[in-house]
Amino acid sequence: MAAPNLHKGHCLCGNVSIEASGEPRWAGHCHCPSCQKAVGAAFATYAGFLAETVRINGDTLKTFRSSPGVTRRFCSNCGSAVSFEGEAWPGEIHLHLVLLDDAGMFEPQGHVYVKTQQPWLNLDDNLPKRMKLAKDD
Ligand SMILES: [Zn+2]
Ligand SMILES: [Zn+2]
Repeated sequence: MAAPNLHKGHCLCGNVSIEASGEPRWAGHCHCPSCQKAVGAAFATYAGFLAETVRINGDTLKTFRSSPGVTRRFCSNCGSAVSFEGEAWPGEIHLHLVLLDDAGMFEPQGHVYVKTQQPWLNLDDNLPKRMKLAKDD
């Protein structure tokens, strides 16, 4: 049986719902300082989908411009980080992977921004430590 290609998810409180059709182009962990603060954790795990395949809805959805050209969406009720969009990745939306019900299907391929990784985080997953996400990365 073919894998289902509609991936659904939601924030912690359930007010924000996510639907992504098709498959992510990549999945990976980001250790940059902005992502750490956005999720309140040592790193953020994303799946990169074509933006046109993603629907995000919910009346508590808010946007935050965390740096020039970067828009993060989050739920203003429960605080869940929902998505990242950056001008360096035109046409893509990066979903916080574990909000998807079937997040376990999408195994990350690597880590980025490991230079700002927390020093006590011990990574032994043997994934590449500098996955290429964009031409200048
Ligand atoms: Zn919520
Ligand atoms: Zn990041």
